[in-house]
Amino acid sequence: PGAFGFTTEELSLAGEFARLTLLQIDQAVAAINLRRSAEVDALTGSFNRRTIDQWLVRAFAEAQRDNHPVSVLFIDLDHFKSINDRHGHACGDFCLRNVAASLRAALPEGDMLGRYGGEEFIVVLPGRGGAAAREIAEQLRAAVENGVYNWHGRAIGLTVSVGVATRREGESSPAAATERADKALYAAKRAGRNCVQVAPAVFS
Ligand code: GH3
Ligand code: MG
Ligand code: MG
Repeated sequence: PGAFGFTTEELSLAGEFARLTLLQIDQAVAAINLRRSAEVDALTGSFNRRTIDQWLVRAFAEAQRDNHPVSVLFIDLDHFKSINDRHGHACGDFCLRNVAASLRAALPEGDMLGRYGGEEFIVVLPGRGGAAAREIAEQLRAAVENGVYNWHGRAIGLTVSVGVATRREGESSPAAATERADKALYAAKRAGRNCVQVAPAVFS
């Protein structure tokens, strides 16, 4: 009082505010990281199955409500067991990470890639009907085939098979479409792998 500047109490109060602010920021960052680690698969950085399942349910409910198409792709690495057998599990992990990166890079922005299980990925394509989904599936298949995967100086050749299914009228939940996508994936395996099969063409 009677002078310029802050009193000791004012300074200590300002210091306390700053300390509390930093604490809040740290807590917010920790909460974001925790949420992220709950949503994302640690090996590949893709969404995990739980998150994709929630997303699928929402995408199908919205598609039914708005009368929009939605498609699902099941993507499975071809003969992946033999990669592990020949080059080891660490190489298999390296391949999974890099295939996920190839798929993400080839996927239109806003579409969602998840790791559904071991060497199986899933893509949800809200707003896309069968023809658009087939086109994207073919882009993803080609991206993996043309990707360069170098493991300790050795080029590893990788391919995927893809099953495509599109929501049918009246389907407000994803169960039936994911089953068709799974069947189409197995049709792609039977057809010789490294190819895309669309469910309605095979199983309607
Ligand atoms: P197909 O073309 O019919 O799909 O043959 P495949 O060998 O890919 O299929 P299979 O289901 O016989 O084998 C899948 C293999 O994927 C077996 C398993 O060891 C491997 N795998 C699953 N998850 C992981 C993982 O996280 N890391 C590694 N390295 N391998 C994995
Ligand atoms: Mg496989
Ligand atoms: Mg599989």
